Amino acid sequence: MGESEIVIDPKRLIDDVSRVWDEDLVGQLTEYVEIPAKSPAFDADWAQTGLLDLVVQRAADWIIAQRVPGLTLEIVRLPGRTPVLFFEVPSTRPQGTSDPTVLMYGHLDKQPEFSGWRAGLGPWTPAYLDGLLYGRGSADDGYAVYASITALQALKRQGLSHPRIVGLIETSEESGSPDLLPTIDALGDRLGTVELVVCLDSGAGNYDQLWLTTSLRGMATGVLKVEILTEGVHSGDASGLVPSSFRILRHVLDRLEDSATGRLLPSQFYCEIPPTRVAQAEAAAALLGDLIYKRFPWAHHNCGGSDLVSLPTSTDPTEGLLRRTWMPALRGFLRSPMPGMYCDPIRPSNSACACPRWWMPPKPFKILRRCSKTTRPTRLGSRSISTVRQADGTHPQQRRGSRPRLMRPVLRNLVRPSGISVRVDRFR
Ligand SMILES: [Zn+2]
Repeated sequence: MGESEIVIDPKRLIDDVSRVWDEDLVGQLTEYVEIPAKSPAFDADWAQTGLLDLVVQRAADWIIAQRVPGLTLEIVRLPGRTPVLFFEVPSTRPQGTSDPTVLMYGHLDKQPEFSGWRAGLGPWTPAYLDGLLYGRGSADDGYAVYASITALQALKRQGLSHPRIVGLIETSEESGSPDLLPTIDALGDRLGTVELVVCLDSGAGNYDQLWLTTSLRGMATGVLKVEILTEGVHSGDASGLVPSSFRILRHVLDRLEDSATGRLLPSQFYCEIPPTRVAQAEAAAALLGDLIYKRFPWAHHNCGGSDLVSLPTSTDPTEGLLRRTWMPALRGFLRSPMPGMYCDPIRPSNSACACPRWWMPPKPFKILRRCSKTTRPTRLGSRSISTVRQADGTHPQQRRGSRPRLMRPVLRNLVRPSGISVRVDRFR
């Protein structure tokens, strides 16, 4: 890499980047927040509303205005697919050195509005309070394109050489990135030999140091449905005789999870945590301490002088980190088949969306199926579970002396998701 000649002046770098954020980027992101550029999963009419095109075009216009020497860009639009912004900056290294490519990744589509915004705040009404910008999409992931180019420009202003850099800013990430790989296929050799993917779409422990995402959990999502009757009947007539579909649901879920502790029961959901990852978790826990759980908005209740606060499953920082990264967990919510009923019927069926998160089990969905299976006519009703979505978890292995891998597998892992993620982010 010719490391010897690369000497970064860190103070100048941070001053430079901070100035650009204050003078320009906060304003860019403020305008971006105002645009409800929802991902296709939340806006079926995205092609007609044109908001994904709008945010991509705005980002492209801003990049062009930065006049990065040698930069070229293109908005790739495949038929029926969301737009992807692709940019390329040539290497400034001396001729004759090896020329790997660095890929910067981000996305400009957003999650939907959701509820629960504090008074005065909202998804599409940006507010800058106490040094934080509030509004949908600025941290996930509107900042990525601006941060990438600003970092590059800061290097150039210090006269530092850099390898070839390409950028992929997509607009279907919040829907599972269905349009990213087809775009990568369409770009073909133009991506080059990517040695490093900087995925600006992960979390950070704090703002005091640079953080690397070293692993991501997999996920299986399904709908578990329990049926005991074919239609609703009066509860006064039937309860006590007709089994409650809710109780049966609990019974099935008890095969998956110890409801007293939250521990998942099938051993297949567990894997051996590599010692290096445990050591890294200990180091991160030493830095972050109880911030690991205190950063969540725990419900509290003040009553007659007593102060009741809900608690995490562990207050040990290392244990807490490992529980939210390497241990399996079950998440579920109930879906009523009869919304808006206001008498108290016995429900004919009940369904829960079970989202167990596990770490690379061989056949995760088979385990779920086995746990919910009906084997004979039963007082437990009929139960079915259907796969909605499934994604493998992974973590990049350190491979000494490994040579550049082909782009496609690297990005396959990225969308799955995987890969090293670096995020330097001022907003939350
Ligand atoms: Zn994101």
